Amino acid sequence: MAPIYDRVALIGLGLIASSMAHAMKAGGLAGEIVGYAKTEETRKVALEIGICDRVCTSAAEAVEGADLVVLAVPVGAMGELAEEIAPHLKPGATVTDVGSVKQAVIEAVSPHIPEGVAFVPGHPLAGTEYSGPRSGFATLFKNRWCLLTPCEKSTLEATARLRSLWEAMGSNVDEMDAPHHDLVLAVVSHTPHLIAYTMVGVADHLRRVSNSEVIKYSASGFRDFTRIAASDPTMWRDVFLTNKEATLDILGRFTEELFALQRAIRLGDGEHLHAYFTKTRAIRRGIIEAGQDTSAPDFGRAADVKAGD
Ligand code: NAP
Repeated sequence: MAPIYDRVALIGLGLIASSMAHAMKAGGLAGEIVGYAKTEETRKVALEIGICDRVCTSAAEAVEGADLVVLAVPVGAMGELAEEIAPHLKPGATVTDVGSVKQAVIEAVSPHIPEGVAFVPGHPLAGTEYSGPRSGFATLFKNRWCLLTPCEKSTLEATARLRSLWEAMGSNVDEMDAPHHDLVLAVVSHTPHLIAYTMVGVADHLRRVSNSEVIKYSASGFRDFTRIAASDPTMWRDVFLTNKEATLDILGRFTEELFALQRAIRLGDGEHLHAYFTKTRAIRRGIIEAGQDTSAPDFGRAADVKAGD
């Protein structure tokens, strides 16, 4: 396949950027990949494992001559970086980002985008609980959604080209406006992460159940919370600081539902509990039918993996 962009600059070289680099290299989608990350250690690793053809010691230097610039840093760092790179962007270039929140990123980045440069915000709905340059892999985006949220600084041409890159990396692409994106993500990702963080925190506080028991018997459900609650603290701090309203809205609804279930348990209202769990089971079936998870028992884990492993 002919490269979609001659030169791509990756700003931030963690899980998402390194996965993009692997996918672009596997598909021949970029002529050259240039990278920049905050610490020398990450830049060194990026060169060593070959995710970048070149690394630079500043973001400004990395974006020189790039046709596509990808901001792949925590959401709270995007505005400052956009300001730094703005005078160095090539006319006709596209800037995109992969941040998990969109409205706050648009507000932080857009004002710095110069005339003649397009900004097309994006968010791949794909990830793991690992971070850093070594955690990426080429198939991370395969059959996962990537949401583009075009804004005032986007052009149709730049959006179409970026869409073709994500499709070539294996993603399905949808477009929506940024506030809607933030609400959808508050439901499917941000609030569930907060609940997982809380559940794991609660277990830690509960002195009547020993730590070794929690770990030993974790396959009963707790283990799946711990995977989510192991996600990067900086990334998730920024998500909650920047998607405040939508997360608080969904958390409010969650609390109401939780109280209703708590009441049903206290009153012994089995009918309520059964009806509720029947409804949620149908949602799980819908996710499997949409190809977003496997129907194998225990989330597809190998049958020989025992509780406590
Ligand atoms: P990550 O693995 O923790 O990597 C973050 C990278 O950003 C690191 O290379 C870090 O450099 C660099 N960085 C941080 N602050 C910087 C700054 N001020 N200037 C330059 N580089 C800086 O993170 P990630 O998981 O790839 O996440 C990146 C973005 O993707 C975030 O906005 C996140 O919301 C979004 N996202 C994440 C997921 C997920 O599941 N992880 C999924 C979709 C979208 P050093 O290593 O040198 O510190």
